[in-house]
Amino acid sequence: MTYHIIKNCPMCHEATRLNIVGWAPLYDRYGDSGVTSFAAQCANCRRFVSGNLTYPQDGPLMDENTLEKHADQTGNVSVLFRNNIEFDRKGEGKWYLWSVSPPESEINKFMNQVDTCMSHACYDAVALLCRKVVEITINKMIDVVDIEVSNSKIKPKADNVSSLDELKGKELSFKIRYIFPPEAERGENRPDIYHLAQLTRLFGNKSAHENTPFTHEDAEDVYAFTQKFLRSARGN
Ligand SMILES: [Zn+2]
Repeated sequence: MTYHIIKNCPMCHEATRLNIVGWAPLYDRYGDSGVTSFAAQCANCRRFVSGNLTYPQDGPLMDENTLEKHADQTGNVSVLFRNNIEFDRKGEGKWYLWSVSPPESEINKFMNQVDTCMSHACYDAVALLCRKVVEITINKMIDVVDIEVSNSKIKPKADNVSSLDELKGKELSFKIRYIFPPEAERGENRPDIYHLAQLTRLFGNKSAHENTPFTHEDAEDVYAFTQKFLRSARGN
């Protein structure tokens, strides 16, 4: 059985299953508490995380039977890992590494570069790469778009196109508006995805053209927008 906890993944921030892949006692402090280190894989983003589990003196000892003893029928051991978990973090309380495990799709390769830039404080590069990820994703969607259906979802008729080639020749801003029309009154439109994509595009432009360096906070924002955009655009 695979044991897991349900917790917000420190990598993708989703509340999801973290499948425990290993653990080992670090130390016991008599009369105080003990600490066990563990590693887990996120069921959502597939990345690995590690951390420490601190337990009180009267808490369960971690041995080979502990997970089995505390798991419910599905293998959930959240009860054991309730509030005393601490994930390993890097710099400024954030963690970006351990990103080697996602499948090597084109987008994941770029998102791995974004992770690396985040962890090395290359914040301007983060914004440029995130814009690139949005552009590639939108272009992939345009490759399979049905012009007639899409035209009908767009309210300003001036934004209709007559051919796929015309659409492919447009600027990214237009393409985003075309694929994710922002007019919320049409039930099937997704203004939320539209705004995430446009914000990421604007951050990328700012990074490309302005003199002021990106801050850690800016980079955090654009990174979060892009992750959310990818999840929403892929329909999950
Ligand atoms: Zn995750």
